[in-house]
Amino acid sequence: MVTTHNLGFPRIGAKRELKFALEAYWKGQSTLDAVKQLGHELRQRHWALQAGLDLAPVGDFAFYDQVLDMSFTLGNLPARVQGFHGDELDNYFRVARGRSAQSAEAHAQCCGGVAAGEMTKWFDTNYHYIVPEFTAATRFKLDASRLLQQLAEARAQQVKAKPVIIGPVTYLAIGKSKDDTSQLALLPQLLQVYTELLETLAAQGVEWVQIDEPILVTELDADWQHAFNLAYHQLKSCRVKLLVATYFGQLADNQYLAANLPVAGLHVDAINARSEIVPLLGMLPAHKVLSVGVINGRNIWKTDLNATLDWLEPIAERLGERLWLAPSCSLLHVPVDLDSEQALDLEIRSWLAFATQKLDELQILATALTQGRAAVKDQLASNHTAIATRRSSQRVHKPQVKAALEKLTPQLGQRQNAYAVRASKQAALLKLPKYPTTTIGSFPQTADIRHARSEFKAGRLDAAGYQAAMQAEIARSIQEQEALGLDVLVHGEAERNDMVEYFGEQLDGYAFSQFGWVQSYGSRCVKPPILFGDISRPRAMTVDWIKYAQSLTSKPMKGMLTGPVTILNWSFVRDDQPRSVSCYQLALAIRQEVLDLEQAGINVIQIDEAALREGLPLRKAQWQSYLDWAVESFRITANGVADETQIHTHMCYSEFNDIIESIAAMDADVITIETSRSDMELLDAFKTFDYPNEIGPGVYDIHSPNIPDQADMVKLMQLAAERVPAERLWVNPDCGLKTRQWAEVLPALRNMVAAAKTLRANA
Ligand code: GLN
Ligand code: ZN
Repeated sequence: MVTTHNLGFPRIGAKRELKFALEAYWKGQSTLDAVKQLGHELRQRHWALQAGLDLAPVGDFAFYDQVLDMSFTLGNLPARVQGFHGDELDNYFRVARGRSAQSAEAHAQCCGGVAAGEMTKWFDTNYHYIVPEFTAATRFKLDASRLLQQLAEARAQQVKAKPVIIGPVTYLAIGKSKDDTSQLALLPQLLQVYTELLETLAAQGVEWVQIDEPILVTELDADWQHAFNLAYHQLKSCRVKLLVATYFGQLADNQYLAANLPVAGLHVDAINARSEIVPLLGMLPAHKVLSVGVINGRNIWKTDLNATLDWLEPIAERLGERLWLAPSCSLLHVPVDLDSEQALDLEIRSWLAFATQKLDELQILATALTQGRAAVKDQLASNHTAIATRRSSQRVHKPQVKAALEKLTPQLGQRQNAYAVRASKQAALLKLPKYPTTTIGSFPQTADIRHARSEFKAGRLDAAGYQAAMQAEIARSIQEQEALGLDVLVHGEAERNDMVEYFGEQLDGYAFSQFGWVQSYGSRCVKPPILFGDISRPRAMTVDWIKYAQSLTSKPMKGMLTGPVTILNWSFVRDDQPRSVSCYQLALAIRQEVLDLEQAGINVIQIDEAALREGLPLRKAQWQSYLDWAVESFRITANGVADETQIHTHMCYSEFNDIIESIAAMDADVITIETSRSDMELLDAFKTFDYPNEIGPGVYDIHSPNIPDQADMVKLMQLAAERVPAERLWVNPDCGLKTRQWAEVLPALRNMVAAAKTLRANA
């Protein structure tokens, strides 16, 4: 007997129903009851899809974020949102999204405005959670109502329910202390509430509880390791069986600790930590269940079921009834159902599995283990065919691409001369003033632009009509930029739906789903393109647009590209070769685009690497090897140009301390970064390192509709000049302007250009 279970199911809905319901409610176009009703329906639907499992997750559904749900369960709300007297779900949205006192939303006037909770990435995924806040005054208080309600619903549907909660140590570790309180000092108090919660569930007759402790796959110091022992020795007395779930990586140093916690079971990610499973068999106490996460919960590929069984059968032999099978992690990180993809190429579709299909795979594995492979021989045979065709497909494997990769040399990533030599040649060519001004690439994506694109995609606007519409937008943005007096112009990215999808659509080796949405945060979803094959660039992707833009102005026009690391990190990528290989392939393709732009007379080229930091592995020990190939990929992309061509890169985040050496190794002539909200303090890292090239520290926050003040921007640049010599500073916003309105952008940039003029006059 093998027990099958699931760690979590995507909650956004196969057609993003939850997104649309939430947004309608937030806009005042629907009611709270409608939102709650949809939540109920989605849970029912998702449990029905999981009906074949021995245990289905309950409590994994959240209206906004599962970590925020946990904060509500533990009664840990920031002081600023307490005393709200409306519906609890309204307060929940208030914590998640913030609310202005002027807004028309419920209770805004009586209960006031609040700042949104801080959001950060959930481990190494693209999912963002609301960070729990702690202070010395933090007092936890159980509110099990949400979980109990979902449990009752599940039971009414005859679901074999396994409540899912975040474990106490992970909960503390992923939160933030707002004063000097140590998070661990809160543990004893927190454990009382966890005890109460588990006892409440026991009283409901719950047998198993999944308690997620993914922090076990990161480096833990002795205090945090000790916290695990403390916590689980205390929770041991509760009358439920605990399955401690780890995922996303290897346990490494924490393996012994995890194996020996006094709980009934342990879940391990057998995709990322496969090599740890067999050693764990010897380490686990004889009564413990081992849940093996054999189906990849982070990608969209079919599992090689036959190979998995080859590996699993001896393990099943040893574990007997103590073997559980599951996906590697919650399926939150994959789209819901491949059956919706009727437009996808049939062969490529035959290689894929979304959440629903992954659960089918789990079932096949379990049946094969309990009844023998013969019981599922047709399914195994068709899986074998899919895996074999993918492995040998000429659409995946391109000899020319592989040959080009074999020929990579360090010279390919090397500029002709060092920055100092390049800088003087570029200065002579571009003739820019001190404190040159520029923008990060995109201008507002107006309703007209979106309309033209959807008409074009629907076939109601022909290619010539679409091109004319986009050219008109480009011309408009150039007129505005000239009127503003900016120094280095951009074309405005009107023709781009998305900075990754736009390139993916034009590269060979990419496929696109229609409904492959994955939750990023709250109601926001992304639809990562699917990198399935060796990458090549059949034709130039941006040159015509940029050339057209340059033809309208005598000012330098900045060519605009997305870099290989960012394209990689925002795609579903291949599991049949290392990420680094896919990245190098992308690098060679974008390099050709860079060279074509240069050939077309474009002297400034920006290569965005917004997601470079996101790709950092969970454990610091592995950072350098990632950074090595990521930086080398950028260098291959960028550095084939002549000295006179100025390479820019852009990164929109604000932590450079620990990766500054790699940022410098990219050797871009100019880097623009997000700094406005940090008072330029993050430039300290550049100063300490003696960063040698030019920097454009963002002087205004593009996320806010507020018009930045000229004097404030002057002040920020003066702070910047204390850290970086003025000759190497640029003046620009934090990021692209596509989400803003022209009515906000124009006055903001007018003030920014005026600020640059003031700085020049004072210099
Ligand atoms: N060039 C892109 C833009 O301006 C950069 C966006 C980003 O860094 N996220 O929109
Ligand atoms: Zn940015």
